[in-house]
Amino acid sequence: MKLIDGKAVSADVKASVAQENAKLREQGINVGLAVVIVGNNPASRVYVNNKKKACAEVGFESFEYALPEETTQEELITLVKKLNDDRSVNGILVQLPLPSHIDENAIINTIFPEKDVDAFHPENVGHIMIGDYAFLPCTPAGVMELIHSTGTDVCGKNCVVIGRSNIVGKPMAMLLLHEHGTVTITHSRTKNLADITSKADILVAAVGKAGFVTADMVKEGAVVIDVGMNRNAEGKLCGDVDFAACCEKASYITPVPGGVGPMTIAMLMKNTLTAAKLQNGIK
Ligand code: NAP
Repeated sequence: MKLIDGKAVSADVKASVAQENAKLREQGINVGLAVVIVGNNPASRVYVNNKKKACAEVGFESFEYALPEETTQEELITLVKKLNDDRSVNGILVQLPLPSHIDENAIINTIFPEKDVDAFHPENVGHIMIGDYAFLPCTPAGVMELIHSTGTDVCGKNCVVIGRSNIVGKPMAMLLLHEHGTVTITHSRTKNLADITSKADILVAAVGKAGFVTADMVKEGAVVIDVGMNRNAEGKLCGDVDFAACCEKASYITPVPGGVGPMTIAMLMKNTLTAAKLQNGIK
């Protein structure tokens, strides 16, 4: 088994973003990302801090808008519209989940598609579906980079995705399909899940349940990507995969932490750079 080092791969992505950003700066273009957080979700706070830190690493400006839990949907929409019109802001990221009184779709739909660096806007989702896109959703795009880093060719492989969320499972399946994988999407109503996953050459787990993927669900020699970010009984960060057991069977496997997580942030930086280039008419 070989460990897929998400920290190393993400460092390479960020280094190339930093290099391109330096060239933009020489042309007088300062790239800026607005990060909006509503409420006091501690996990969201950590993600936002990590995103700001990554901006500093690659040389982007970051503008944080930390709003109280009781912020109304109208107030948030007003802020997003202001950021849409702000030329110093190239990308807008509204950290999810939002408090339950705010309709997440209404907010996502307000972000200008060209500033939608999470690629959640329906227009960008449509572009991904037809394979003609500027932005890819950060987590699935990061997973593809990790798969590529192993030298695995997705073409013709049996790929199984566990989970069908709009932010991970569905776009993940689409990206594997674009690279000619034979893709199966599984979910909570799937029957005989282990029969399906144990035939996967590439298995991506995005379930949100600690230790969900056990060794009997993994094919000998499979590439196993663990998107899950969960807390175990001791409060320790862990993925969806029973790592200790599955690494005996996998050819390559991602750890948690240090796998998909850092890639998500690196791909966000890449999308923000792409947004700035597009907004400035640079290919
Ligand atoms: P989500 O919206 O809760 O989706 C979970 C998916 O898992 C659903 O499609 C659900 O099926 C499926 N599922 C639940 N129980 C199942 C079961 N017993 N068998 C098969 N499928 C089952 O979660 P998400 O937003 O996609 O996130 C998934 C995980 O990835 C979470 O741990 C999250 O924290 C993590 N995550 C990590 C990153 C990162 O950067 N590393 C980014 C995003 C998310 P149904 O649709 O039928 O309910």
